[in-house]
Amino acid sequence: MPHTPHPPAAVLASDQERVFHGLGVSPGIAIGVVFHHNTGTVAVPEYCLTRDGIKAERHRFAEAVEAAVAQVEMLQAKARALSGSVGEELGYLLDAYQQMLQGSRLVRGVDRRISEERINAEAAVQKEIGQIVAGFAAMDDAYLAARMDDIREVGQRLIRNLTRTPHKPFSTMPPHAVILAEELSPADTALLDPRQALGVATVLGGAAGHTAIMARSLELPMVVGTTGALVGAKNGVPVIVDGTAGLLILDPSPETLSLYRTRRAELLRQRRRLHRLVKVPAITRDGVSITLLANLELPSEVSSVVTNGAAGVGLLRSEFMYMNRDTLPDEDEQYALLAGMVRKLEGRPLTIRTLDCGSDKLAPALGLLHSPNPALGLRAIRLSLKRRDILEPQLAAILRAAAHGPVRILLPMISTVSEVTEVRACLDKVAKRLTAQGHALPDPLPPVGIMIEIPGAALAADALALQADFFAIGTNDLTQYTLAIDRTDEAVAGLYDPLHPAVLRLIQFTTEAALRARIPVSICGEMAGDPRYAPLLLGLGIRDLSMSVANLARVKQRVRSIDLVAANRRARIIMDQSDSTRIGQLLDDFNAHLAP
Ligand code: PEP
Ligand code: MG
Repeated sequence: MPHTPHPPAAVLASDQERVFHGLGVSPGIAIGVVFHHNTGTVAVPEYCLTRDGIKAERHRFAEAVEAAVAQVEMLQAKARALSGSVGEELGYLLDAYQQMLQGSRLVRGVDRRISEERINAEAAVQKEIGQIVAGFAAMDDAYLAARMDDIREVGQRLIRNLTRTPHKPFSTMPPHAVILAEELSPADTALLDPRQALGVATVLGGAAGHTAIMARSLELPMVVGTTGALVGAKNGVPVIVDGTAGLLILDPSPETLSLYRTRRAELLRQRRRLHRLVKVPAITRDGVSITLLANLELPSEVSSVVTNGAAGVGLLRSEFMYMNRDTLPDEDEQYALLAGMVRKLEGRPLTIRTLDCGSDKLAPALGLLHSPNPALGLRAIRLSLKRRDILEPQLAAILRAAAHGPVRILLPMISTVSEVTEVRACLDKVAKRLTAQGHALPDPLPPVGIMIEIPGAALAADALALQADFFAIGTNDLTQYTLAIDRTDEAVAGLYDPLHPAVLRLIQFTTEAALRARIPVSICGEMAGDPRYAPLLLGLGIRDLSMSVANLARVKQRVRSIDLVAANRRARIIMDQSDSTRIGQLLDDFNAHLAP
């Protein structure tokens, strides 16, 4: 099988040091050692089959192979979109995987073992791989030795598909690890211990994807698009991730190491200086108070809301409750988690978004069918309305948690008024049931708000404002859907532009509709957490910004230097522009002239 190794996309800076240029999606500097994600072996059960069980087992194996082919096909499609030798390198590797999955000795051998040795499929995969690898090793050939890793990787993929056990991807991770991976899913990121992992570098992924958002929340420096690095880097090799400049440096020279240690120390000093802002109010120069809220991905982050001086939680992404498990969380389990968070917020509001699974956020517990176009498929509120076994327990848990402090309910991916009225009807039904069961519920029930993140919803904001108690503008998806740019795809990351006039007009239209209807409106997409956009958003009339906790201090610093009258004037000039480059210049010029 032709698999000529290509030189990795690296610039040689010294004998050993290799510098890979990618896209920085989470700022900061990590200095640690390489840890390859997804190379860990999965525990393999072994058992004997009855004669009658052989056919079913061969079928189960065929399904696992089919799933692996589909997974690799998906990676191949992404690799094709990568440019130059980076895509080519990955393409060769994935072609090789694909050949191994289609009628190769590996697949035939496993099938034969199931029938002849009457053992389960995962044990048969492990035995077959062991035999192939032992044969290669005996030949003492460097090329074949490299192929052994490929065969093991394919075997692990098959075993993972067969066992369907929630794999524990970081169980063997050493301290000071920098994770190198083809791709890191949001579900795996949720399992990361940020005290152990210092940074991440992946081949695939985009700046607005959920993994990148989580990395920013966890303050983990992250770079995507570092293809060649996977090929040469062994576990334990010293490495630097520069998430600000988008660099991955393997085996850094002593000079580079010392330079980066100095830079990291400076960043830590800056962070400490910013932390002093925690206690000062978020108020503009002309005395207007701005509400800065937190976006949370994980319940463990809730204490940081208080310590970082946020006014509350503007967006709790509830997906974490459904990730890395095979069953749905029941009402009591959700209630316990949410009530704990409400209590820890000590009177600050908690805005709980109902499940927003789909696209890059999938949970096996939901047993979702493959969607031909997941970003446009049965996801978020559409899924919840179809699956009352998901929606009702979640609403019930939220209502019960609301007995412990202020709670708001937020509905994701709303596109029509009827979706809101259907959820309200469901909420009333659930509330009646809970009251009958003797639960104390707040009176009135918590406000029900909607995400404005679909262009159609923004354009229908007037009508939606009659049904919603508040709006939260999700600029991540609003940008994705307005510009038809997949937010998770690094191949089109350069086209993902929240300053596109179409996106800005939708934000403006939505904000004005909310102000007319006298309902609160916030921004909770990534735009809210970038100080660059603060003058524009405030100038458009936004007063509530919800962001990852890590960004609160920097945004507060910017808010305190803004004069609202001037920001409003600049926003009007910006809204007359048709070119996003010019818009960017006008914004940067405004920011550059702000008093420090
Ligand atoms: C958004 O789309 O802007 C948003 C906040 O939701 P998420 O990033 O979870 O899709
Ligand atoms: Mg969204």
